[in-house]
Amino acid sequence: MRHVHILLGAPGSGKGTQAKRLVQKRSLLHLSTGDILREAVSKETEIGLRAKADMASGKLVDDDTVNGLVFARLQDETENVLFDGYPRTLQQAESLETFLSSQGIGLGYVVDIEVPEPVLEARVVDRMVCSNNKCGAIFHMVTHRPHQDGVCDICLSPLKHRADDCPEAFRSRMAEFYSTFKPLKAHYQGTPFYRSVDGNRSPDEIHASILDLFQEQA
Ligand code: AMP
Repeated sequence: MRHVHILLGAPGSGKGTQAKRLVQKRSLLHLSTGDILREAVSKETEIGLRAKADMASGKLVDDDTVNGLVFARLQDETENVLFDGYPRTLQQAESLETFLSSQGIGLGYVVDIEVPEPVLEARVVDRMVCSNNKCGAIFHMVTHRPHQDGVCDICLSPLKHRADDCPEAFRSRMAEFYSTFKPLKAHYQGTPFYRSVDGNRSPDEIHASILDLFQEQA
């Protein structure tokens, strides 16, 4: 049976970094709704044009739009999937479950990467990302500097700050996150799928813990 796994966590908790590392070790397709939406914005598609203002100010894009994008991708793909940044609301989680049962797809792990709030802001405001959407490598100006300033180690494209990583948008994203995350977490905590991982450690340590979980399942 095909499965989808979910990485939960605040902005800056390391979901993107951990997802990229995990999919190199396990055969999973990485689906980041943030990446899908950023691509729609840069290509100026109809959805991208609608989502642009919400994303720039750190607000969530509406549930129907995001669910529509995700379900279309799930129908196109045949692999097991790792979601990063989805679901973000209880409504998204419930719609996802209905969709999965209708398609005979199972829910796998829901991994919650827990990081204290003051650590998150420091991570996000110094984050740099590769400007090439196909690469999307993530760097940090203090803890994970690129070998050459402003240049991606992997594909040599220029690095940039994400528009929503400035302190104002970060605070708005955090406010949004805490109001929507509580019911989402409560929804998963009572299920056999939920696993919490201490995200206030080095990327290597967090990766090892997540990998252990996925090896349990192998
Ligand atoms: P991320 O890269 O996951 O931090 O997402 C960047 C931005 O994309 C968020 O601040 C939202 O505006 C939007 N976004 C990403 N995923 C979702 C989602 N599941 N639901 C609503 N908005 C989302």
